[in-house]
Amino acid sequence: SLAERLQEAFKKLRGKGKLNESDIKEAMREVRLALLEADVNFKVVKTFVKNVSEKAMGSEVLESLTPGQQVVKIVNEELTALMGGSEAKLNFDSSITAFMLVGLQGAGKTTMAGKLALYLRKRNRKPLLVAADIYRPAAIKQLQIVGKQIDIPVFAMGDNVSPVDIAKASMEYARKEGCDVVIIDTAGRLHIDEALMEELKNIKSSVRPMETLLVVDSMTGQDAVNVAESFNNTLDITGVILTKLDGDTRGGAALSIREVTGKPIKFSGIGEKMNDLEVFHPERMASRILGMGDVLSLIEKAQTAIDEKEARELGSKMMSKEFNFEDYLKAFEQMQKLGPLNKIMEMIPGMNSKELKGIDMDDSEREMLKTKSIIYSMTLKERRNPKLVENPSRKKRIAKGAGVTIQDVNKLLKGFENMKKMMKQMGSMQKGSKKGFLGK
Ligand code: GDP
Ligand code: MG
Repeated sequence: SLAERLQEAFKKLRGKGKLNESDIKEAMREVRLALLEADVNFKVVKTFVKNVSEKAMGSEVLESLTPGQQVVKIVNEELTALMGGSEAKLNFDSSITAFMLVGLQGAGKTTMAGKLALYLRKRNRKPLLVAADIYRPAAIKQLQIVGKQIDIPVFAMGDNVSPVDIAKASMEYARKEGCDVVIIDTAGRLHIDEALMEELKNIKSSVRPMETLLVVDSMTGQDAVNVAESFNNTLDITGVILTKLDGDTRGGAALSIREVTGKPIKFSGIGEKMNDLEVFHPERMASRILGMGDVLSLIEKAQTAIDEKEARELGSKMMSKEFNFEDYLKAFEQMQKLGPLNKIMEMIPGMNSKELKGIDMDDSEREMLKTKSIIYSMTLKERRNPKLVENPSRKKRIAKGAGVTIQDVNKLLKGFENMKKMMKQMGSMQKGSKKGFLGK
């Protein structure tokens, strides 16, 4: 995968202490190949590599203590910028807002219409779905099923009325029914064709949508970019929605589309269900492509809030086998300096997974105090040798001392083990072992 290829390229950089220009050049060659292989548009790759190289060759990077990491950080920042920098919002009208979904057949328009409607209703809007695909057999029915599933009204006039007339009539209907957002599901073809484009243009000029959103199947790679370019040229789209990002996509579409069209990616579809919609966050996508969660922003945050030397010591301790309850306690205290614990933990890859819930990094001070008091109830020997705590009579004594239940102690032990496991994974990535960051 792209993440694996990129990590491979960076591993070599990390392994070296100081870097020189040829190290960077070599790494950039590999980055270039990885991107091309992931179907990123070649022009985009060229500009990207040029930008990263220029920044990476700077003296601050080459002379820093951790040049490899600096390069990764630059790549991450440039990836983020490539995808638009920050998230792009939807635009609304003061009266009834129309959104028009366009794209090739099978891209996911009808599904996305439903997802968007649900998303908007959760934000206190009153959406109306409009069935303007009169060509694909059962397209109207499909939208009606979607609407029923999420309890959103669907406006349809059968397949004998022109899509332009349907769209116009739907605005009137929305007014009457008190709906404030109209989502128009249009027809697609397997390939771009003139008649379709003409029809879409007519719908657009008759309802003047606030957003003309191009729905693109992210699995189609390089082709997605061509599609986006031609839809944009004809329809002047206002944004892109990438669907099927849950699949085995190579990431090329996400990286190229913004740069090629100049239009932001606003949402992504991450599954077939109505809830499988996400606001597109360039930063998160970049981290995902790099295969490292939001760990980079965590590193950044940690650098500003914590004494760097202390943090580095703790970091390497956390990633080593010796990590014990004393360190756990210290980590807690360090993290308190960083802000709300749950926010911090969310940024660590893997921390969202269910098994880690055992750590119970609840926002509340109370949980935190509980954990602390359990560790305080341990003897120094126990803190330094966590295995000892598994002994039932010790567990009982500790629970009693901390004024908590045995289950609380068990929970702490489980959380500790999970954290240790995860830290070991992080450690092996940094040392450049074969196993990837997410254990893949
Ligand atoms: P349309 O022709 O553009 O209206 O596309 P549809 O909405 O009918 O979707 C085509 C197929 O893609 C359907 O089987 C959907 O369930 C599926 N689909 C749509 N969005 C996603 C997504 O984000 N992830 C996955 N895995 N499948 C999706
Ligand atoms: Mg459809």
